[in-house]
Amino acid sequence: MRVAVTGGGGFLGSHLCEALLQRGDSVVCLDNFSTGDPENIAHLLGCPSFEFQHADVCETVEVPGRVDAVAHLASPASPPDYLRQPLETLAVGSRGTENALRLALRHNARFVLASTSEIYGDPLVHPQEEGYWGNVNSIGPRSVYDEAKRYAEAVSAAYHRTHGVDVGIARIFNTYGPRMRPHDGRVVSSFITQALTGEPLTIYGDGKQTRSFCYVDDLIRGLLALLDSRELGPFNLGNPVEHTVLELAELVLAMTGSPSEVKHHPLPADDPVRRRPVISRARDVLGWAPGTSVTEGLSRTIAYFKERSDLLRTSAVA
Ligand code: NAD
Ligand code: UDP
Repeated sequence: MRVAVTGGGGFLGSHLCEALLQRGDSVVCLDNFSTGDPENIAHLLGCPSFEFQHADVCETVEVPGRVDAVAHLASPASPPDYLRQPLETLAVGSRGTENALRLALRHNARFVLASTSEIYGDPLVHPQEEGYWGNVNSIGPRSVYDEAKRYAEAVSAAYHRTHGVDVGIARIFNTYGPRMRPHDGRVVSSFITQALTGEPLTIYGDGKQTRSFCYVDDLIRGLLALLDSRELGPFNLGNPVEHTVLELAELVLAMTGSPSEVKHHPLPADDPVRRRPVISRARDVLGWAPGTSVTEGLSRTIAYFKERSDLLRTSAVA
C-alpha cells in the first residue's frame, strides 16, 4: 500500500509511519510541525519508500501518484497545545479533515480518522462504549478539541454515506511512549520529566481522577488493524486498565527512584473525572487487544526520556 499519513511528524504519526515502512508499505508523510518534531522522522528520510511533504492540511492536500489509504492524524492533541492553538485546532479538525477526506475520495482510498476518547467529554457513563454519545461542554475551553473531533467524526461518516468513502474511525484513549515531547504538558510526559529532573510532580486537583493508559506500540497495532479492514466503527482503542493520576505519580516516582515530591495545582476546567474504554468491539471485529502492562510501557518510556536528557531541562512547551 501507499499510505498518506497526516500528522506523520508527531508522536503517534511517526510510530505509524515507521510501522508501515517496517511491513513493506510506502509512506507519504504530511506535517506542518506545529506540535510535531522533525527529529521524529529524521531517521526515515533516507528510506526510499518514505516521502515527506511540509504541508498544512487546512490548505488543499495534494499527493502526486497513487494513494491507497489516508491516515488522518494531524491535530494538536495535548491540552496545553490545543488551548494555545484553539482556532488552529478547530480548523484542522474541520477543514483539515475535509481536505484529507477529499484526498481519499479522489484516490478511492481507505480513510482512517484518529478520533479521541474526548468525544465522550466528562462521561456520565462508565466505562465508555462506542454507543455512548458523550457529555461535552460545547463552549468550554476543551471544546476546541472535543467539538473539532466530533465534527471530524460527523464529516467522515457523511463522506462515507454520501460519497461511499471507505472510512474507519478510531477513538484513541490516552496513549504514551517514546517520542512524546517532555514538555508537552500531558500527564505521563510531565511526571517522567519532573521525576527525572527532581522537580515536584504537578498533580491537578486531588489526583483521584482516572485515565487508562495505552502503550504506543499497542495503539499502532490497533490503527493498522483498522486500516487493513473495511470497518467504519467507531472503535475504542485504548488500554482498559484504569489508574488514578495519584497512582500514576506514585508509580513514576517508584520506577525512577526519584526524590521528587508531589504538588497539587487547581484542576483545569472541564477536566474529565473518569475515563476507561470498553474494547470488546475492537477485540471482536478487529482482533485487537493491548498487551503491554503499564509498568512495562512506563519503563520503556522512562528509558527513552533518560536517553533524551538533553530535552528535559528546556522548559519550552512548543
Ligand atoms: P502530536 O501533537 O504529537 O501529533 C500531531 C501532529 O499533527 C504533529 O506532528 C503536528 O505538527 C501535526 N499537525 C497539526 N496540525 C497540522 C496541520 N494543520 N497540518 C499538518 N500537520 C498538522 O499528537 P499525537 O499524540 O501524536 O496525536 C496524533 C493524533 O491522534 C491526533 O489527531 C490526536 O487528536 C489523536 N489522539 C491522540 C491521543 C494520544 O493520547 N496521543 C489520544 C486521542 C487522540
Ligand atoms: N494532569 C496532572 N498533572 C499534569 C498533567 C495532567 O495531574 O501535569 C492530569 C489532568 O488534569 C488529567 C490527567 O492528568 O486529569 C490526564 O491529563 P492529560 O493532559 O495527559 O490527558 P487528557 O486530560 O487529555 O486525558
